[in-house]
Amino acid sequence: MRIDILTVLPELLESPFSASIMKRAQDKGHVEIHIHNIRDYSTNKHKNVDDYQYGGGAGMVMSIEPIAAAIEHLTSQRKYDDVIYMSPDGELLEQSICNTMSLSENLLILCGHYKGVDERVREHYITREISIGSYVLSGGELGAAVLVDSIVRLIPGVLNDETSALTDCFQDNLLSPPVYTRPPEFNGWKVPEILLSGDSGKIDIWREEKALERTKAKRPDLLEE
Ligand code: SAH
Repeated sequence: MRIDILTVLPELLESPFSASIMKRAQDKGHVEIHIHNIRDYSTNKHKNVDDYQYGGGAGMVMSIEPIAAAIEHLTSQRKYDDVIYMSPDGELLEQSICNTMSLSENLLILCGHYKGVDERVREHYITREISIGSYVLSGGELGAAVLVDSIVRLIPGVLNDETSALTDCFQDNLLSPPVYTRPPEFNGWKVPEILLSGDSGKIDIWREEKALERTKAKRPDLLEE
């Protein structure tokens, strides 16, 4: 998979992809992540990427010209499964969207800033708009990092067996069961006996029961789906 990200603050996207699973996924060739500075596509002499909004009002708006130049340059080189705009009014990101997007070949992600992007960008270039939650961030970069992380970890081969995505929350519309590691007892608090029993059949049943119990208690809405 190839992911291109357009931003005015590339430095915000450096660390999320340079450690742990995201780094390994790139090192092993499962994904290529390319970060592009929208400013490099600005043709005016101050390299401006924003301007005052028509009709007045506080806050700058990201101009269409440099964004259009960046998107046209990239889409002339390859076909993108989606050209995504990170936006608080977009589709709420959830596991089923990550699962589908993890099958993509090429994704292009646009991060907004200030008051957002000129509406014509959304109308003419964007194929999908994603929100990471009902709150407002100061820029799309943290959202893009969340989206990319949630997709890349699902690409086959990225996670090893130990961290298999299939047993994570939201797969099968269930939350994950509780997990424990050594020591078997701390402060008198014991690990459930069954997990030490070595009986993998019974352990599987226990985990399913706990997953269901937890989902009923914390996210009953998942069971209604
Ligand atoms: N005025 C806009 C908010 C702009 S916030 C509004 O009220 O809709 C600046 C940028 O941050 C946005 O362009 C978007 O790219 C990003 N952003 C903010 N909140 C987000 C969220 N919940 N999910 C995804 N991106 C978000």
